[in-house]
Amino acid sequence: MLTFALAGNPNSGKTTLFNALTGSTAHVGNWPGVTVDKRVGTYKKGEQPVEIVDLPGIYSLSPYTPEEVIARNFVLNEKPDCIINIVDATNLERNLYLTTQLMELDIPMIVALNMTDVLDARGDTIDVRTLEKRIGFSVVEISALKETNVDELMKKALIAVKTPRVGSTVLKDSLLGSAIANAEIALKLKGVNAPLFHAVKLVEKDEIEVATHPAEASAVEAFIEENVCTEKHCACDTEAEIADARYKYITAHFSSTLTRARKHSYDELSKSDKVDKVLTHKWAGIPIFLVILFAIFHVTFSENFLYLGSMIPAFGEWCGAESESVWKGIFFAGGLNSPGVILFNALDWLTGKIGEGLALGLEGLNANPAVIGLVCDGVWGGIASVLSFLPQILVLFLMFSILEDSGYMARVAFMLDRIFRRFGVSGRAFMPMIMGFGCSVPAMINTRTMVDEKEREATVRVIPFFSCGAKMPILLAVAGAIVQAFGVGNADVITYSMYVLGVATALLSLLVMRNTTKRGEVSPFIMELPIYHMPGFKNLMLHLWDKAKHFIHKAFTIILASCIVIWFLSNFTWDWSFVGEDGMDTSILASIGKLIQPIFTPLGFGSQLGENGWVFAVAAITGLIAKEDVIATFGTLALSLGAVLTETQLEGGVDQVAFLIQATNATVPALIAFIAFNMLTIPCFAAVATAKGEIGEGKFKWTLLFWIVVSFLVSSMVYTIGEWAWTAAIWAVAVAAVTVGIALYNKVMDKKERALLKK
Ligand code: GDP
Ligand code: MG
Repeated sequence: MLTFALAGNPNSGKTTLFNALTGSTAHVGNWPGVTVDKRVGTYKKGEQPVEIVDLPGIYSLSPYTPEEVIARNFVLNEKPDCIINIVDATNLERNLYLTTQLMELDIPMIVALNMTDVLDARGDTIDVRTLEKRIGFSVVEISALKETNVDELMKKALIAVKTPRVGSTVLKDSLLGSAIANAEIALKLKGVNAPLFHAVKLVEKDEIEVATHPAEASAVEAFIEENVCTEKHCACDTEAEIADARYKYITAHFSSTLTRARKHSYDELSKSDKVDKVLTHKWAGIPIFLVILFAIFHVTFSENFLYLGSMIPAFGEWCGAESESVWKGIFFAGGLNSPGVILFNALDWLTGKIGEGLALGLEGLNANPAVIGLVCDGVWGGIASVLSFLPQILVLFLMFSILEDSGYMARVAFMLDRIFRRFGVSGRAFMPMIMGFGCSVPAMINTRTMVDEKEREATVRVIPFFSCGAKMPILLAVAGAIVQAFGVGNADVITYSMYVLGVATALLSLLVMRNTTKRGEVSPFIMELPIYHMPGFKNLMLHLWDKAKHFIHKAFTIILASCIVIWFLSNFTWDWSFVGEDGMDTSILASIGKLIQPIFTPLGFGSQLGENGWVFAVAAITGLIAKEDVIATFGTLALSLGAVLTETQLEGGVDQVAFLIQATNATVPALIAFIAFNMLTIPCFAAVATAKGEIGEGKFKWTLLFWIVVSFLVSSMVYTIGEWAWTAAIWAVAVAAVTVGIALYNKVMDKKERALLKK
């Protein structure tokens, strides 16, 4: 079967065309890099079936980004029968830059001039026949979105395949043209495939190319020095020289084929530009984004979404609902819950009922109490605790998907780029960070859009600091318990400050890493801003389904297994006798807890908490499996320590923690340190596995160490300063010393680098 590759810039419409051709249902987003994975489908409407490969979006064929490497290796090694180069007609010149590189390959090629519907709407025209003549192969006007002319495109591509093609270049008459021609001859003699392409790359001093052909590389260098460099002009930066030559050629030969209806004047801004005047305003842009972000969190998490006041009792009477009925999940003390919370309560109710049903069923079968405990508390309890967060996470993702698909997120990343740069990362880090509030796993995968490897690793490391949905119960339960046990503060304020602490820790550790172990220039952030448009319903649903699948999968694999293990450890003693919930402090888990308890003494929840203090140690450790386990552990352990709580008190998790505070005499600073520790330390299993996959096995151990060090440092700082304010002075001195140390280190390294460059 013939294979055609779709190649083009990010957001040029590759995936849309891919879907139109193959009828597949891949997600279409505006975020550059959504297409990192290779997608393959079959086009069946032509005279013969054709395999279509959707390559990642790229601006060039240099080996700098993972996307570029994937695309380059594919076209060079797998040699598709035809390259369909998608060109966004509304950004003709920028897109043709890649075209001038692709045409240097010896592969039949055809240009799909996409977004012509937008072009038409603007009244702009492109003289396709002239463009075709000048480029040297077929150009077909299409609209991938409206699916116009795509069959025509495939027909032309099938014709193009029939004649073999030898690469051509627009650099022939440029300053480096002769150097390229010489290199091409040398590589041809050596029997290299696609000699023209490799010759250009060799002249560009492309790392991979120079390493593969060292002899030819030095010959090229010598040739350039002798023949191209003059007194006045040194063509040493050949890469920039070639890029410049490409653009000059495009401007001279291709640009004139585009006729704009008229220059956009101030009054005639297109709709998208008008929206941008407000949303990406110089100083209002970021505050507007913060308001949008707040609204999203409000819709997802707030219990008091809409204040209804006295309407609630009236409504309750009208529908005959008692406070204990299903309506309870919808309303909250005088207000309407947010959609996220309503769904959360609904699912909680459902999983509770299933749990009760399971217990009743097993009791009816006269099952062993150990079996009932395992199935109901161990297995179902754990799975339900994970599933219960699914609605809120889906609501959060739905809203982020809308912002992403509409083209807004790309602009926010752009606006924040300037601020992020100060902390050592580009605006590309923004989307992964925001996603981290939902779940670290997709967030870490999303860092693949980042260009620079060091920048990317640093970002993967700080993503867990953006407190994910599973950590929220810890924040809510402990903050609520502090308010209840000590009568101080406001639970909301504590929760929000913990989020802020997480973000601040992330930004500061980025700053430190990018000046020490992950030193380097911040990569440039160039991106085509997509035009605004309505997100497609189908795409949103597909996106959501992806997330839901991931969570359900997690619940029935990792969580299931870990629940069974924890249940066994907390219900059996070392001599393997069943103690159940009542004898939990003699269980295996308790003895392990007591062993590790002293580790947490500097953080305030270690040995100073006395004989029951091990529960905090155990809860923190179970959090390594899934953060949801922390509060679940508190619940069971509080019961085993003799807490007597009513059915309703058991629901929120607040009363169990309040009981444990009394049983252990934990102080407020210690409890805040406990939240901080859980938020900043090694994330859950799933996130650890993902980070390992993204960073690579070898370097991963340093990431684990990083999480441990940061969480211990920050939490003990919180605890000691909270407990003894004067220790702030010691911390301040330590921070100052580290800052000076980093500054000195950077000076030395800069000097070394400059010396290396001179050589
Ligand atoms: P990719 O990054 O190259 O895969 O680009 P996508 O296929 O994800 O498309 C980027 C955006 O452009 C999406 O929002 C598409 O809906 C939109 N798009 C793609 N093709 C067209 C088109 O022909 N006309 C219009 N108006 N929009 C398009
Ligand atoms: Mg795509």
